[in-house]
Amino acid sequence: MGKTALVIVDCQNDFMPPDGALAVPNGDEVLPVIRGMLDRSKWDWDVVVATQDYHPPRHISFASRHGKPVLSDLELTDGRGRHYTQTLWPDHCIQGTKATEIVKELRDAFGPWKERMKIARKAWHPDIEQYSAFEGYITDATDPSEPPSEDIGAKPIEESEMALYLKSQGVDKLVIVGVATDFCVCHTNLDGLAAKFNTVLVAPAVRAVFADRENGVFEQIEQQGGTVIGREGASGWEADVRAFAR
Ligand SMILES: [Zn+2]
Repeated sequence: MGKTALVIVDCQNDFMPPDGALAVPNGDEVLPVIRGMLDRSKWDWDVVVATQDYHPPRHISFASRHGKPVLSDLELTDGRGRHYTQTLWPDHCIQGTKATEIVKELRDAFGPWKERMKIARKAWHPDIEQYSAFEGYITDATDPSEPPSEDIGAKPIEESEMALYLKSQGVDKLVIVGVATDFCVCHTNLDGLAAKFNTVLVAPAVRAVFADRENGVFEQIEQQGGTVIGREGASGWEADVRAFAR
């Protein structure tokens, strides 16, 4: 049987109300749920990966760089020559700041998992946006390394650092939690499916920037073969997650 990784997406100070620069509405509601999932007396994840948005100042996704309004959409060409539509964000998760740190409530719960844990840092290149953990670089959880000096290149998703690391650990199942449902959680989940992992998204442990888009994201993930557990306040989701992870 394959192993299971808990993937905790972007539970960083800047994404949490009330003070985060890009606070996800009700984003802090996921923290006690995820903290419960890090209780080692109750759960036994084979691998834990926590992701970090990790931007340099003047990142391509920042509205301030382009002199445009926050949350507007802008057609851009990124550092790889790719044309795309960027949703413009307030400055957030800047490297080396407290704002980019994973919230203390979760960091305090990481202790028992340290030897099974990695950090995935993404969107560290000034001219490239990355929402998915499968686009980031994998680093040590206790002593994370700073980003490579140059773009490490757009690799096929199955050859990404994230996919290769998980496969090296025998992982073939992902349990995905965190913020924001409609951006980094969604992209991480869809890339996980594209990289041939089985995935479960835990609805009580995710929140969206645009709450009215959340159901659409769940449906998109299900259409691609992923499972969403605990929708609309359904109880008993822990048993369903345990059955998946077994
Ligand atoms: Zn970002």
